[in-house]
Amino acid sequence: MAKYMKRLQVIPILFMLILVFQGINSYVSEDQISTLGVIENGNIVKELDNLPNIIFMIGDGMGVEQLKAASMVEYGVLNGTIMDYEFSDYGLYGTNDIENKTTDSAAAGTALSTGQLTNYGRVGMKSNGETYVKNILEYLRYDFGYSSGIVSTTHIAHATPATYVAHSNSRHNYEEILSQMLNHELEVILGGGQNAAYIGNKNKAKTLAKNSGYDDIATNREELMKYTNTSEKLFGIFGQYQFEGGTYESHMPYELWRNTTLDPSLIEMTEAAINVLEKNPNPFFLMVEGGRIDHAGHRSFNTEDAYETKNQLNIIETIFFEKSVKKALEFAKNDGNTIVIVCSDHETGGMKLIDYSGLSTDDLPNKDMNRIDQMSKRLERISLLNVTWQGTAHTDTFVPIYAYGLNIDNFNVNQIIDIFWILNEELGSFPVIDDYKFTINDGVLDYYVSLKDLDTSATKINLFAISNDEISIMNEINIEFNNMAIMNYNNSMNIEFNETVEFFIEIIDGNNSVFSLGSENNLIAQQVEHLKPIFETTTITQSSSNQTLSETMLNSTIVSTSTEINENTEGDTTISSKTSNENIYFHAIPLWLSGYAIVYIRRKKLN
Ligand SMILES: [Zn+2]
Repeated sequence: MAKYMKRLQVIPILFMLILVFQGINSYVSEDQISTLGVIENGNIVKELDNLPNIIFMIGDGMGVEQLKAASMVEYGVLNGTIMDYEFSDYGLYGTNDIENKTTDSAAAGTALSTGQLTNYGRVGMKSNGETYVKNILEYLRYDFGYSSGIVSTTHIAHATPATYVAHSNSRHNYEEILSQMLNHELEVILGGGQNAAYIGNKNKAKTLAKNSGYDDIATNREELMKYTNTSEKLFGIFGQYQFEGGTYESHMPYELWRNTTLDPSLIEMTEAAINVLEKNPNPFFLMVEGGRIDHAGHRSFNTEDAYETKNQLNIIETIFFEKSVKKALEFAKNDGNTIVIVCSDHETGGMKLIDYSGLSTDDLPNKDMNRIDQMSKRLERISLLNVTWQGTAHTDTFVPIYAYGLNIDNFNVNQIIDIFWILNEELGSFPVIDDYKFTINDGVLDYYVSLKDLDTSATKINLFAISNDEISIMNEINIEFNNMAIMNYNNSMNIEFNETVEFFIEIIDGNNSVFSLGSENNLIAQQVEHLKPIFETTTITQSSSNQTLSETMLNSTIVSTSTEINENTEGDTTISSKTSNENIYFHAIPLWLSGYAIVYIRRKKLN
């Protein structure tokens, strides 16, 4: 079974290349897919197989001082932070939201994931609360074929992870966020939340994951370790042991209080995620959040004990985040084509190191110690720091960014949205379509797309050309670029157009309802959960000469499906689909940006 085997051939056609490989998305992994790469003025400027992995690491609530304190305690670094020595690109940036107010994790996560400022509480949406903004995971997954993963120590639908997988008016719409997250069928989801109210308990979490197509489901550390080496698609939901007040908390436990036989650490989750994603032949995007640095920063410090605890929890969370970064960096250096970005969404608590003169540089926790000894060494060192806190809220102080593996000339991050645009530049721009048209004349298909900007509610379009014959289609594609993309299926093609080619268009709009158009016997569509339901419309054949495809589609009726999560009286969670008929409409559809274009033509491999 060539399920995850990468096969790459390069076929020169006129002035350009077409790349052919298998398994661009895991969920269409058995399909033959041709794609053009990223094209500018008729030349491929970026071949897809050369695109880098991206490990994007967010220390939630992590300012420079948090990182400095962690570096002193763990490594005895007294000048700067440990990461200053590990990364060549670094800087500081501001995190304010669109109203120039101190931000929160939802608005800041949206800024990081979409390059757009928004206001407090919004997840992947503009400040108007209506416009969906496509995020980097969606660009990379659906337009570039990346595999993808999300890791966090918060519960999985919490604000930061949410901004990479969902679009919602409010960060508190956890059910909606979870449902959107599961719809992506990510290769990796690892985080807390098995006791979060919107999930319920461990068994419900398992049912939920199973119903979403995950076979490898980990609910404790041991299970994570079991799956990490074999799994190609892994769902892990943790947070078993809850220290605080004996009550269940929705997130994973603080590292200081983690029961190491029950829950994994952020380091272990990061490693597991990389292991799983590395098995996929496509490049990957992985977001890792150290989510509880922020929570420690929010803690009150009204007693001496509370003060000490706040310091301990905050600094140890930061240490383990930094150690997770080390794992990512280690992988990147071995791999040779992986970008690691380490940044923050905002600072929390207004932490300040006043005096650290009592701290030695050599009496450090070390690898040879057991965990208990390491932790007590850390606590001993933390007690020697003089730390103050401004309060318990987010601040607008500048936060640090570190980057490894970028090729761009100017690493210049002044505000939080710049990070998205740096990755955009590095990858050769994310494709965005704003308009398109298909015209068929005498067996020639003209395919036209144009762009406006990122500000669109549409999030996905795929054009599928399905044929019994693979080679003839690829050889007959001509691409011309002026201000438009035209794909000519011309008459000299060595195939019977009406018998061998079907086109299939899939649009997923911003609110995640799925619109797809194609013939009802479309084999790809029947196999791909995302593309259901199938429409009885529109097999495009030569007999539809002189008819524009878009007009045909406008006359069609579609069935749209939305997903509901239900709980029965026994407390089991099930997911059911609700279908409704509606007329097809078209709205702005993304594909182009600034003269770059990417076009997929997917063909089912028929055996
Ligand atoms: Zn916070």
